[in-house]
Amino acid sequence: MKQCSPFSIIKNCYNCEKKFNLLNEKIYCNMCGKLFCIYCLNNYLNDFKIIKVCNKCIIKYNEENKNKDENINYYEKIINEKNNLINKLSKKIIKKNMVDKSTQTI
Ligand SMILES: [Zn+2]
Ligand SMILES: [Zn+2]
Repeated sequence: MKQCSPFSIIKNCYNCEKKFNLLNEKIYCNMCGKLFCIYCLNNYLNDFKIIKVCNKCIIKYNEENKNKDENINYYEKIINEKNNLINKLSKKIIKKNMVDKSTQTI
């Protein structure tokens, strides 16, 4: 992540370059840390409407999350396959043990 610009020095919106004043509040993006006006910073990261991010960051965030979901599905698939294999193996082992025990007793 890039270093945040000093809050008080920045006087214009990073996106539309509108000057900040009492009516045009400066808000910083929670992802890139750049300062935007209220018109340019109107995306929220989650449904609770707490974390505000700029237009570029919301696109980046959505793309990354989409990839994450795909990765999770991919890993879940692998884990499921592994579990199936383990189940099969453990059934085999139990059978083998039973055979071993039966041969021991004889
Ligand atoms: Zn702006
Ligand atoms: Zn941003």
